[in-house]
Amino acid sequence: MAELRSFFSRHEDLTQVLLYAGIITSLWFAEIMVSAESIKYKWKHSTVNALFIFTALPIQLLLTTFVILISKWDIAHHWGIINFIPHHRNHWVYYISLFILLDLCEYIYHVTMHKVEALWKFHLVHHSDLKVDVSTTTREHPCETAIRTGFLMLWVFICGPAIGVLILRQTFQSFSNIIAHTEFRLPEKVNRIVGLVFITPNLHHVHHHYQLPYTDCNYGDVLSIWDRLFGTYGKLSKTETVFGIDTHMNEQLNGNFAGVVKLPFQKFERPTQQHNNY
Ligand SMILES: [Zn+2]
Ligand SMILES: [Zn+2]
Repeated sequence: MAELRSFFSRHEDLTQVLLYAGIITSLWFAEIMVSAESIKYKWKHSTVNALFIFTALPIQLLLTTFVILISKWDIAHHWGIINFIPHHRNHWVYYISLFILLDLCEYIYHVTMHKVEALWKFHLVHHSDLKVDVSTTTREHPCETAIRTGFLMLWVFICGPAIGVLILRQTFQSFSNIIAHTEFRLPEKVNRIVGLVFITPNLHHVHHHYQLPYTDCNYGDVLSIWDRLFGTYGKLSKTETVFGIDTHMNEQLNGNFAGVVKLPFQKFERPTQQHNNY
């Protein structure tokens, strides 16, 4: 038992991957009970999304090495915004300040992925899913995995977090992202309270609506406060929400892994925003 414990503590990355795989699988089975689709459809849909794990893992593991090196450099040189926030070695102030700072960075990252045409081409792969369930969490183009981790290096350089903060944040972020994509929407009254601070499935589902301006709202990663603060908060009922992205509604293409990987390299025109009434 002690050997097993020591193995997992030495392989933190592997432990986290196994933990998330276990959570995603459990939620996937739980979703079958509330899902309107057949198991056969759900399996086919999830297989395409699951394949993205194999492209993301090597990129993520390789680039995380650089994230760790930057964090070590920050600490050694007392570099980063956190050094301007008076935390007087209080762990709570230190961890919470960095958590909020990094969440703001992720909000900026997400807005950038939507607004810069060259980056949107890769992010639209995540949005091209015509059915949002827990498996959508892993649907990320390999180039976006590299871009996202590249941005993380920048955020770590700017903010100056210790590795402990990054591990804690990564854990929160992964849980939050998994939950936000599940089919388990909160009752409206609960959503109104939880959604004041956190991104809920109800809020993230609006972000997956196929048309503007809804695609361009609720960018928040873990916290929803940035959307409220910067005017990108949006509401849409479950019955009005249609998953996907208007430029890529072809079910056959979206259900084919190779086809989806090629999406960013194909020409398409994005409709201009017609209205702005969230
Ligand atoms: Zn998005
Ligand atoms: Zn999403």
